Amino acid sequence: MNIIAIMGHMGVYYKDEPLRELDSALSAMGFQLIYPNDSEDLLKLIEHNARICGVIFDWDKYSMEMCTEINELNESLPLYAFISTHSTLDVSLNEMRMALYFFEYALNAADDIAQRIQQYTAEYIDTIMPPLTKALFTYVKEGKYTFCTPGHMAGTAFQKSPMGCLFYDFFGANTLKSDVSISVTELGSLLDHSGPHREAEEYIARTFNAERSYMVTNGTSTANKIVGMYATPAGSTVLIDRNCHKSLTHLMMMSNVIPIYLRPVRNAYGILGCIPKSEFSRESIEAKVAKTQDATWPVHAVITNSTYDGLLYNAEFIKQNLEVKSIHFDSAWVPYTNFHEIYDGKCGMSGERVEGKVFYETQSTHKLLAAFSQASMIHIKGDYNEKTFNEAYMMHTTTSPNYGIVASIETAAAMMRGNPGRRMINRSIERALHFRNEITRLGAECEGWFYKIWQPTKIDEAECWPLEQQDNWHGFPNVDADHMYLDPIKVTILTPGMSQSGSLEETGIPAALVAKYLDERGIVVEKTGPYNLLFLFSIGIDKTKALSLLRGLTDFKRSFDLNLRVKNMLPDLYAEDPDFYGEMRIQELAQGIHDLICHHDLPNLMLKAFDVLPEMVLTPYQMFQEEVRGNVEECELIDLVGKVNANMILPYPPGVPMIMPGEMVTEESRPVLDFLAMLCSIGAHYPGFETEIHGLERTEQGRYVATVFKEQE
Ligand SMILES: *Cc1c(COP(=O)(O)O)cnc(C)c1O
Repeated sequence: MNIIAIMGHMGVYYKDEPLRELDSALSAMGFQLIYPNDSEDLLKLIEHNARICGVIFDWDKYSMEMCTEINELNESLPLYAFISTHSTLDVSLNEMRMALYFFEYALNAADDIAQRIQQYTAEYIDTIMPPLTKALFTYVKEGKYTFCTPGHMAGTAFQKSPMGCLFYDFFGANTLKSDVSISVTELGSLLDHSGPHREAEEYIARTFNAERSYMVTNGTSTANKIVGMYATPAGSTVLIDRNCHKSLTHLMMMSNVIPIYLRPVRNAYGILGCIPKSEFSRESIEAKVAKTQDATWPVHAVITNSTYDGLLYNAEFIKQNLEVKSIHFDSAWVPYTNFHEIYDGKCGMSGERVEGKVFYETQSTHKLLAAFSQASMIHIKGDYNEKTFNEAYMMHTTTSPNYGIVASIETAAAMMRGNPGRRMINRSIERALHFRNEITRLGAECEGWFYKIWQPTKIDEAECWPLEQQDNWHGFPNVDADHMYLDPIKVTILTPGMSQSGSLEETGIPAALVAKYLDERGIVVEKTGPYNLLFLFSIGIDKTKALSLLRGLTDFKRSFDLNLRVKNMLPDLYAEDPDFYGEMRIQELAQGIHDLICHHDLPNLMLKAFDVLPEMVLTPYQMFQEEVRGNVEECELIDLVGKVNANMILPYPPGVPMIMPGEMVTEESRPVLDFLAMLCSIGAHYPGFETEIHGLERTEQGRYVATVFKEQE
């Protein structure tokens, strides 16, 4: 961080010469000086170059307006105003709040000024650095010798072995030096919440509008278990989003609780919807409690917000109306909602406390902010027992946390603060909007088919678009008013094959083909449904990435329309089974899969598969205990009716559990099996199109086998 911008060249000696002297003094200190053409150029430069750590300018020439504009980009950036003896200095209170420093034009003062600039730069860096990361950087810089773990000793051990050296050189010195032991006392402790770790938690809580925040180094999978372990005593009843992440199924396998489910809607595109308002009502919950053995009024509720496909709830409604004292929003996908006003009221931490209730929000920092994998946070608002909570926290936390991950969690928070943070999210939203509009524009211009976007017909403004009953773009029946909103940065593209009402058309291009084509060109799709593809416009997506996606999509269309051979268009797919694909052309492949989907009537099957839930015979906890005792056996998928399934069965996509441990598929819930069988059948017909199904094993004969409960004679 050493670039300083100078607005130089005043054209008069008494101003230019001192700046020239300053340039050499600062250069000698290791600063890099750059000269923007004008204030517009300067603002662009600051916007595109986060390494700029100061601006030197003439107070008389560049007005306060420029300072204000710089402030909107980065309110902490030091500004160095040069004044002459004639300058008027009427600085307002607002300006006094800026990091604005004054110097006079004078010869032979350069060394002095440079030193002060160096000091202010250090202060600037100090301001933007969060506490734990700062302490860690300082610790590494001091380079102390330790005699504790980790055994690589700041990387030294690696360098004693040829392979170790390759590893060391790849990851770099600081990665290893900052991988320090929990016994380093000056860094405090993650498990005791002490020292800089405690400061980091407080800093994060302030940043995310929480009362208390925890850093979790093993992903939201673990964060969810920590919250769940604390919030649900054995024997209690828990209200769980049926479309939950599998970590919550694991929670129910670990914790002896009785689940009752909140049932989200889904549309014919196979896009997961939200839980309708009615499901949150007292009557609906009472009915479920009455129907479930041993169930009582739920002590805790878990809701996935946003859904995988980018639908956010009116969280305020849920907080106010759901009569459960402890509510957990699993917000793994949306760690950025606190940093832009379009998400107000749609996330766990927005708004105030609600008396008598406690809210949790878990977020995968690594998923859409900038942090190492496994970085996650728990935010809390409301009263809870900190001591007991910490037992649950420690139960799931390693005693040797990776400080690189911890510091990255804190850094992600620091990056989101203030104007720079808001701008970053704003830019993601704008980029996504632009992309959406480009697809629509290209669709209007081109001949024949084109991709469509799953979004309202009119999208001029950046907002979370409400799903309205009278609109049909979303494909959901009976949508509640003011209840679900589409996040603009989650972009779902639709391929031809299915009409808006969800009926299958004569011809179609299954989305998996487009996904494979993009994948072979280095563009990885987040999720692929039957005729939809999901792309995330996170803060790391820049214009070039967005453009290459656009190009990938249009190239696919061109190649598809030319009906190229699979061999040429999808060489990796071809390589999976050259005999099968032989001279096959892309349109034949697309239509083949489309016909198979039509044959199985996928949209209908999918709706039905989620319509009737399998029957809970054992709770997930009881089932897992039986499995541990060895009371399980294998069973072919097609014979599953009447059997109690042992492990969750989760096809990907849609990526949510379809059968929970301890559930029995009955005649009424048979469509679940038909749906799974159809997924298997597509894979059996077309090499390379196998669906990943967690919980099912594929035998060498190509049959799918599940694990079921074996009752003891
Ligand atoms: C990814 C995800 C998780 C788990 O997060 P990790 O950080 O990968 O452990 C939990 N819940 C939901 C809804 C997710 O999408």
